[in-house]
Amino acid sequence: MGQNRISRIFVAGHRGMVGSAIIRHLRVLGQYQLLTADRSELDLCCQAQVEEYFRDHDINQVYLAAAKVGGIQANDRYPADFLYRNLMIEANVINAAYNAGIDRLLFLGSSCIYPRMAEQPMREEVLLNGPLEPTNEAYAIAKIAGIKLCESYQRQYGCDFRSVMPTNLYGPGDNFHHEDSHVIPGLLRRFHEAQQLGASTVTVWGSGTPRREFLHVDDLAIASVHVMNLQRERYATQTTPRRSHLNVGTGRDCSIRELAELIAQITGFAGEMHFDASKPDGTPRKMLDVSRLQALGWQPRISLSEGLHDTYRWYLSQLNADR
Ligand code: GDP
Repeated sequence: MGQNRISRIFVAGHRGMVGSAIIRHLRVLGQYQLLTADRSELDLCCQAQVEEYFRDHDINQVYLAAAKVGGIQANDRYPADFLYRNLMIEANVINAAYNAGIDRLLFLGSSCIYPRMAEQPMREEVLLNGPLEPTNEAYAIAKIAGIKLCESYQRQYGCDFRSVMPTNLYGPGDNFHHEDSHVIPGLLRRFHEAQQLGASTVTVWGSGTPRREFLHVDDLAIASVHVMNLQRERYATQTTPRRSHLNVGTGRDCSIRELAELIAQITGFAGEMHFDASKPDGTPRKMLDVSRLQALGWQPRISLSEGLHDTYRWYLSQLNADR
């Protein structure tokens, strides 16, 4: 990339929680020309459209944040959609980026790529060491394929295609669907509605004992731009040609019960919690070892409590905007 040339950056998935956070952060930095395309203009599952878009737009860098995502129940209910759509998006964008000779690409994966019973905290090395968690196997396999695509284009063609694996994300722009969402938006909504109605109990799925690590999406956006902008030699100090991804997380986790208690406080719900054992717990614990990214100079900034307040404020602003 020439020093004096303004980078033309394409953010795939700019309407999603992750893509929109990356756009917000790039706008603050200011020195880039940002490209985005709505689904009506560019269907990322359509190879011909993606190839044409890359041919026509003289792109330097790509953030591949487009994905079909959802919580534990959505993953379990729609495995075909999660596997097919994610594979198509990745294959089309990564291959088109190669054909167009772009300088650099950053692929966003997920910590669910790691084996269900992986040693905690999970290092990048545990990838493909054991069976996956069944509730999100389809999504995980698609994301593993994305990492391996980036790695393979790097090994075979020398492309500078990188990957980051964020832990469970949350923040403004999240999906607050009452069933298909992840745990934080799901519980913020349910506790908020119970508080508004003056209900005496709120249902929390599963046993409350699984442990998760949560990262605010604005911290992920900063990490993504940081990794994208590392010198190639610096990125290579923490990766290898066959382990080219980097974990992004806080290195701290909490139980779902503790999370629910925090959300009860934030939403002002004073009643009881009921744990619904008919809903799946998923993997017992998911916490990343983030020492590699820390060695490359990145740290999270937003605490869970601060981040939950921020997300709840955003959710309330959306409710008010809908009225
Ligand atoms: P996961 O990390 O893939 O399991 O993603 P989720 O965010 O969907 O779920 C995390 C944990 O929260 C699981 O143990 C769920 O059973 C639990 N959980 C508790 N209440 C809810 C809820 O209302 N929605 C979701 N999605 N999960 C919940």
